[in-house]
Amino acid sequence: MNLSVLYRGALETCNYDCSYCPFAKRPETPEKRQQDTESLEKFLGWVRRETDVQFSIFFTPWGEALPIQRYQKAIAELSHFPHVEKVVMQTNLSARLDFLQECQKGKLAFWCTYHPSQVKREKFLQQCHALKSWGVRFSVGVVGKPSHFQEIQDLRRDLPEEVYLWVNAYQKGSQMYPYTPEQTQLLGSIDPLFELNTRKYASRGKSCFAGETVVTVDEHGDIRRCHFVDQVLGNIHAPDWRNALQSRACSRRFCDCHIGYVHLKELELYPVFEGGILERIPAEKGSGLLRSP
Ligand code: SF4
Ligand code: SF4
Repeated sequence: MNLSVLYRGALETCNYDCSYCPFAKRPETPEKRQQDTESLEKFLGWVRRETDVQFSIFFTPWGEALPIQRYQKAIAELSHFPHVEKVVMQTNLSARLDFLQECQKGKLAFWCTYHPSQVKREKFLQQCHALKSWGVRFSVGVVGKPSHFQEIQDLRRDLPEEVYLWVNAYQKGSQMYPYTPEQTQLLGSIDPLFELNTRKYASRGKSCFAGETVVTVDEHGDIRRCHFVDQVLGNIHAPDWRNALQSRACSRRFCDCHIGYVHLKELELYPVFEGGILERIPAEKGSGLLRSP
Protein backbone atom coordinates (compact mmCIF):
# COMPACT_ATOMS: atom_id res chain seq x y z
CA MET A 1 0.00 0.00 0.00
CA ASN A 2 1.29 3.46 -0.92
CA LEU A 3 0.34 6.32 1.35
CA SER A 4 1.27 10.00 1.31
CA VAL A 5 1.05 11.65 4.72
CA LEU A 6 1.06 15.39 5.29
CA TYR A 7 2.21 15.84 8.89
CA ARG A 8 1.49 19.04 10.79
CA GLY A 9 2.40 18.85 14.47
CA ALA A 10 1.93 21.31 17.32
CA LEU A 11 4.67 23.66 16.10
CA GLU A 12 3.58 27.27 15.67
CA THR A 13 6.76 29.23 15.41
CA CYS A 14 8.92 30.92 12.79
CA ASN A 15 12.23 32.74 12.60
CA TYR A 16 10.92 35.10 9.89
CA ASP A 17 8.68 38.11 10.21
CA CYS A 18 6.39 38.16 7.17
CA SER A 19 3.78 40.86 7.65
CA TYR A 20 0.91 38.63 6.51
CA CYS A 21 1.66 35.64 8.73
CA PRO A 22 0.34 34.68 12.21
CA PHE A 23 3.53 32.74 13.03
CA ALA A 24 5.90 35.61 12.28
CA LYS A 25 8.73 35.78 14.83
CA ARG A 26 6.72 33.76 17.27
CA PRO A 27 9.10 31.96 19.65
CA GLU A 28 8.43 28.44 20.80
CA THR A 29 7.09 28.17 24.35
CA PRO A 30 8.46 25.32 26.52
CA GLU A 31 4.97 23.76 26.61
CA LYS A 32 4.64 23.80 22.82
CA ARG A 33 8.15 22.42 22.44
CA GLN A 34 7.35 19.51 24.70
CA GLN A 35 4.00 18.86 23.03
CA ASP A 36 5.51 19.02 19.55
CA THR A 37 8.49 16.83 20.50
CA GLU A 38 6.24 14.14 21.96
CA SER A 39 3.84 14.23 19.01
CA LEU A 40 6.65 14.01 16.49
CA GLU A 41 8.20 11.05 18.34
CA LYS A 42 4.84 9.23 18.38
CA PHE A 43 4.39 9.93 14.68
CA LEU A 44 7.86 8.57 13.93
CA GLY A 45 7.06 5.50 16.05
CA TRP A 46 3.98 4.86 13.94
CA VAL A 47 5.92 5.13 10.67
CA ARG A 48 8.64 2.89 12.13
CA ARG A 49 6.08 0.20 12.96
CA GLU A 50 4.04 0.21 9.76
CA THR A 51 6.66 -1.44 7.60
CA ASP A 52 4.20 -2.82 5.04
CA VAL A 53 3.17 0.69 3.97
CA GLN A 54 5.24 2.54 1.38
CA PHE A 55 5.23 6.05 2.83
CA SER A 56 5.81 9.46 1.31
CA ILE A 57 6.00 11.92 4.21
CA PHE A 58 5.40 15.64 3.70
CA PHE A 59 5.97 18.03 6.62
CA THR A 60 3.68 21.04 6.26
CA PRO A 61 4.27 22.87 9.56
CA TRP A 62 2.52 25.95 10.84
CA GLY A 63 5.68 28.03 10.72
CA GLU A 64 9.27 26.99 10.05
CA ALA A 65 10.56 23.62 11.22
CA LEU A 66 13.74 23.00 9.23
CA PRO A 67 16.12 24.87 11.62
CA ILE A 68 14.83 22.79 14.55
CA GLN A 69 17.04 19.87 15.47
CA ARG A 70 14.25 17.39 16.22
CA TYR A 71 12.87 17.89 12.69
CA GLN A 72 16.32 17.53 11.14
CA LYS A 73 16.76 14.27 13.04
CA ALA A 74 13.29 13.11 11.97
CA ILE A 75 14.05 13.82 8.31
CA ALA A 76 17.36 11.98 8.58
CA GLU A 77 15.83 8.96 10.32
CA LEU A 78 12.88 8.70 7.93
CA SER A 79 15.16 8.93 4.91
CA HIS A 80 16.88 5.70 6.00
CA PHE A 81 13.72 3.60 6.42
CA PRO A 82 13.42 1.17 3.50
CA HIS A 83 9.61 1.61 3.50
CA VAL A 84 9.81 5.42 3.25
CA GLU A 85 10.08 6.45 -0.39
CA LYS A 86 10.28 10.16 0.09
CA VAL A 87 10.58 12.84 2.78
CA VAL A 88 9.50 16.37 1.87
CA MET A 89 9.25 19.59 3.87
CA GLN A 90 7.91 23.06 3.22
CA THR A 91 10.56 25.56 4.31
CA ASN A 92 11.81 29.11 3.99
CA LEU A 93 15.28 27.55 3.52
CA SER A 94 16.92 29.67 6.21
CA ALA A 95 18.32 26.67 8.12
CA ARG A 96 21.91 25.47 8.19
CA LEU A 97 22.04 22.43 5.95
CA ASP A 98 24.88 20.42 7.55
CA PHE A 99 22.37 17.87 8.81
CA LEU A 100 21.90 16.69 5.23
CA GLN A 101 25.09 14.68 5.58
CA GLU A 102 23.14 12.35 7.91
CA CYS A 103 20.38 11.79 5.33
CA GLN A 104 19.83 9.55 2.37
CA LYS A 105 19.69 12.52 0.05
CA GLY A 106 18.06 10.79 -2.92
CA LYS A 107 14.87 10.45 -0.86
CA LEU A 108 14.65 14.10 0.17
CA ALA A 109 12.88 16.98 -1.50
CA PHE A 110 12.08 20.50 -0.33
CA TRP A 111 9.34 22.98 -1.17
CA CYS A 112 11.25 26.24 -0.66
CA THR A 113 9.46 29.56 -0.43
CA TYR A 114 11.37 32.76 -1.06
CA HIS A 115 10.21 35.71 1.05
CA PRO A 116 11.82 38.82 -0.50
CA SER A 117 11.08 40.97 2.57
CA GLN A 118 12.99 38.59 4.85
CA VAL A 119 16.14 37.47 3.08
CA LYS A 120 18.43 38.80 0.38
CA ARG A 121 18.11 37.01 -2.92
CA GLU A 122 21.84 36.22 -2.94
CA LYS A 123 21.58 34.44 0.41
CA PHE A 124 18.53 32.47 -0.64
CA LEU A 125 20.28 31.48 -3.87
CA GLN A 126 23.34 30.30 -1.91
CA GLN A 127 21.05 27.93 -0.04
CA CYS A 128 19.54 26.70 -3.32
CA HIS A 129 23.03 26.02 -4.67
CA ALA A 130 23.88 24.18 -1.44
CA LEU A 131 20.84 21.92 -1.88
CA LYS A 132 21.86 21.31 -5.47
CA SER A 133 25.40 20.40 -4.50
CA TRP A 134 24.04 17.97 -1.88
CA GLY A 135 22.03 16.35 -4.70
CA VAL A 136 18.69 17.20 -3.07
CA ARG A 137 15.66 17.95 -5.27
CA PHE A 138 13.62 21.08 -4.59
CA SER A 139 11.17 23.57 -6.01
CA VAL A 140 11.25 27.28 -5.30
CA GLY A 141 8.24 29.53 -5.01
CA VAL A 142 7.17 33.10 -4.46
CA VAL A 143 3.85 34.82 -3.89
CA GLY A 144 2.95 36.77 -7.03
CA LYS A 145 2.42 40.14 -5.32
CA PRO A 146 2.89 42.97 -7.82
CA SER A 147 5.58 44.40 -5.51
CA HIS A 148 7.51 41.11 -5.97
CA PHE A 149 7.46 41.11 -9.78
CA GLN A 150 11.02 42.40 -10.23
CA GLU A 151 12.37 40.03 -7.59
CA ILE A 152 10.57 37.13 -9.24
CA GLN A 153 12.14 37.92 -12.59
CA ASP A 154 15.58 38.34 -11.04
CA LEU A 155 15.20 35.09 -9.13
CA ARG A 156 14.28 33.24 -12.32
CA ARG A 157 17.34 34.71 -14.05
CA ASP A 158 19.64 33.61 -11.22
CA LEU A 159 18.25 30.18 -10.37
CA PRO A 160 19.70 27.14 -12.10
CA GLU A 161 17.63 26.61 -15.22
CA GLU A 162 16.40 23.16 -14.19
CA VAL A 163 14.91 24.39 -10.90
CA TYR A 164 11.16 24.90 -11.17
CA LEU A 165 10.03 28.31 -9.92
CA TRP A 166 6.35 28.35 -9.06
CA VAL A 167 4.38 31.52 -8.49
CA ASN A 168 1.36 31.49 -6.21
CA ALA A 169 -1.48 33.80 -7.14
CA TYR A 170 -1.69 36.63 -4.62
CA GLN A 171 -4.86 36.70 -2.55
CA LYS A 172 -6.02 39.78 -0.69
CA GLY A 173 -8.11 38.29 2.11
CA SER A 174 -10.35 35.77 0.38
CA GLN A 175 -10.20 37.64 -2.93
CA MET A 176 -7.86 36.66 -5.73
CA TYR A 177 -5.78 39.65 -6.84
CA PRO A 178 -7.24 40.92 -10.16
CA TYR A 179 -4.24 40.42 -12.44
CA THR A 180 -4.31 42.21 -15.79
CA PRO A 181 -3.76 40.01 -18.89
CA GLU A 182 -0.22 41.47 -19.13
CA GLN A 183 0.55 40.56 -15.51
CA THR A 184 -0.81 37.04 -16.02
CA GLN A 185 1.32 36.71 -19.13
CA LEU A 186 4.42 37.91 -17.28
CA LEU A 187 3.94 35.46 -14.40
CA GLY A 188 3.02 32.70 -16.87
CA SER A 189 6.30 33.28 -18.70
CA ILE A 190 8.09 32.51 -15.43
CA ASP A 191 5.85 29.71 -14.20
CA PRO A 192 4.17 27.89 -17.09
CA LEU A 193 1.70 26.43 -14.54
CA PHE A 194 0.84 29.79 -12.93
CA GLU A 195 -2.71 29.87 -14.27
CA LEU A 196 -3.50 26.63 -12.43
CA ASN A 197 -3.07 28.55 -9.20
CA THR A 198 -5.31 31.45 -10.18
CA ARG A 199 -8.49 29.40 -9.99
CA LYS A 200 -10.79 28.22 -7.25
CA TYR A 201 -11.85 24.71 -8.18
CA ALA A 202 -15.46 23.82 -7.44
CA SER A 203 -14.76 20.62 -5.52
CA ARG A 204 -17.91 19.70 -3.59
CA GLY A 205 -19.07 16.21 -4.49
CA LYS A 206 -15.96 15.62 -6.59
CA SER A 207 -13.71 12.64 -6.16
CA CYS A 208 -10.30 13.33 -4.60
CA PHE A 209 -7.32 11.16 -3.70
CA ALA A 210 -7.29 12.94 -0.31
CA GLY A 211 -8.56 10.52 2.32
CA GLU A 212 -7.79 7.52 0.11
CA THR A 213 -4.08 7.52 -0.81
CA VAL A 214 -3.07 10.82 0.80
CA VAL A 215 -4.03 12.01 4.28
CA THR A 216 -3.04 14.56 6.86
CA VAL A 217 -2.01 13.67 10.40
CA ASP A 218 -1.97 16.18 13.26
CA GLU A 219 -0.18 16.30 16.62
CA HIS A 220 -2.75 13.97 18.20
CA GLY A 221 -2.37 11.42 15.43
CA ASP A 222 -5.79 12.31 14.06
CA ILE A 223 -6.27 11.51 10.40
CA ARG A 224 -8.10 13.89 8.08
CA ARG A 225 -8.35 13.75 4.34
CA CYS A 226 -6.58 17.11 3.88
CA HIS A 227 -5.77 20.34 5.70
CA PHE A 228 -9.02 21.92 4.52
CA VAL A 229 -11.72 19.49 5.66
CA ASP A 230 -11.93 19.28 9.44
CA GLN A 231 -13.73 15.94 9.75
CA VAL A 232 -11.54 13.42 11.61
CA LEU A 233 -11.50 10.04 9.86
CA GLY A 234 -9.53 8.02 12.38
CA ASN A 235 -6.32 7.98 14.39
CA ILE A 236 -2.95 6.51 13.46
CA HIS A 237 -2.55 5.00 16.93
CA ALA A 238 -5.76 2.97 16.65
CA PRO A 239 -5.32 -0.61 15.43
CA ASP A 240 -7.92 -0.12 12.71
CA TRP A 241 -6.48 3.13 11.32
CA ARG A 242 -6.42 1.72 7.76
CA ASN A 243 -10.23 1.66 7.75
CA ALA A 244 -10.07 5.45 7.50
CA LEU A 245 -8.67 5.19 3.99
CA GLN A 246 -11.39 5.13 1.39
CA SER A 247 -12.64 7.04 -1.59
CA ARG A 248 -14.83 9.98 -0.62
CA ALA A 249 -16.35 13.01 -2.30
CA CYS A 250 -15.05 16.44 -1.27
CA SER A 251 -17.31 18.33 1.13
CA ARG A 252 -15.91 21.81 0.49
CA ARG A 253 -17.25 24.28 -2.03
CA PHE A 254 -13.83 25.14 -3.37
CA CYS A 255 -10.28 23.89 -3.32
CA ASP A 256 -7.71 26.55 -4.21
CA CYS A 257 -4.37 25.53 -2.71
CA HIS A 258 -1.83 23.41 -4.58
CA ILE A 259 -1.39 20.95 -1.71
CA GLY A 260 -5.12 20.24 -2.02
CA TYR A 261 -6.24 20.57 -5.63
CA VAL A 262 -3.28 18.59 -6.97
CA HIS A 263 -5.16 15.54 -5.60
CA LEU A 264 -8.55 16.41 -7.13
CA LYS A 265 -9.04 13.54 -9.57
CA GLU A 266 -10.79 15.38 -12.39
CA LEU A 267 -7.89 17.83 -12.77
CA GLU A 268 -5.60 14.95 -13.74
CA LEU A 269 -2.54 16.69 -12.33
CA TYR A 270 -0.66 13.56 -11.25
CA PRO A 271 0.92 13.08 -14.71
CA VAL A 272 1.81 16.80 -14.78
CA PHE A 273 3.71 16.52 -11.47
CA GLU A 274 4.70 12.88 -11.82
CA GLY A 275 7.53 12.09 -9.42
CA GLY A 276 7.09 15.44 -7.65
CA ILE A 277 3.43 15.74 -6.62
CA LEU A 278 4.14 16.63 -2.99
CA GLU A 279 7.19 18.83 -3.53
CA ARG A 280 5.55 20.58 -6.51
CA ILE A 281 8.14 19.65 -9.10
CA PRO A 282 6.56 19.07 -12.51
CA ALA A 283 7.53 16.14 -14.66
CA GLU A 284 10.05 17.28 -17.25
CA LYS A 285 7.35 17.99 -19.77
CA GLY A 286 4.69 18.60 -17.12
CA SER A 287 3.22 21.84 -18.42
CA GLY A 288 2.77 20.28 -21.86
CA LEU A 289 0.43 17.67 -20.33
CA LEU A 290 -2.11 20.20 -19.11
CA ARG A 291 -5.58 19.97 -20.54
CA SER A 292 -7.24 23.19 -21.63
CA PRO A 293 -9.33 24.71 -18.82
S1 SF4 B 1 8.46 32.33 6.51
FE1 SF4 B 1 6.43 31.39 6.30
S2 SF4 B 1 5.85 30.78 8.39
FE2 SF4 B 1 7.56 32.24 8.55
S3 SF4 B 1 6.62 34.24 8.88
FE3 SF4 B 1 6.98 34.01 6.66
S4 SF4 B 1 5.04 33.12 5.84
FE4 SF4 B 1 5.05 32.85 8.10
S1 SF4 C 1 -10.64 18.71 -3.24
FE1 SF4 C 1 -9.30 19.87 -1.85
S2 SF4 C 1 -10.58 20.37 -0.07
FE2 SF4 C 1 -11.58 18.70 -1.19
S3 SF4 C 1 -10.88 16.80 -0.22
FE3 SF4 C 1 -9.52 17.21 -1.98
S4 SF4 C 1 -7.82 18.36 -1.11
FE4 SF4 C 1 -9.46 18.45 0.38
